[in-house]
Amino acid sequence: MPCQNPGCMRKYDYDHIAVYARKRYVEGISTIVLLCNAKTDGEKTLIALASLLDLDDDNIRELKPYCSRKCQYLMFELRDRLKFMIEQERHHNYSALPISRSLPARR
Ligand SMILES: [Zn+2]
Repeated sequence: MPCQNPGCMRKYDYDHIAVYARKRYVEGISTIVLLCNAKTDGEKTLIALASLLDLDDDNIRELKPYCSRKCQYLMFELRDRLKFMIEQERHHNYSALPISRSLPARR
């Protein structure tokens, strides 16, 4: 269930963020190219959220793209799901460009 608070990244759907996370990290399209091709602000926001995968936990805590402790917890969970999904898909896509930061070990 997404969060209704404006400014909270949890108002966006995992599936929608995943579309852009896949383009960025599996297909290897740069964030800039994705942003240039985005037609709506909603699309741009989703691309920015997908690029959260480039940040480490401390950077994200500084940005605070969530409204409460509960959303914080759920957001990190969502990010871990995205990382896991990308890791899986990258195994099947050897032409993918290297990710700027190595993905954390699976728990
Ligand atoms: Zn929230």
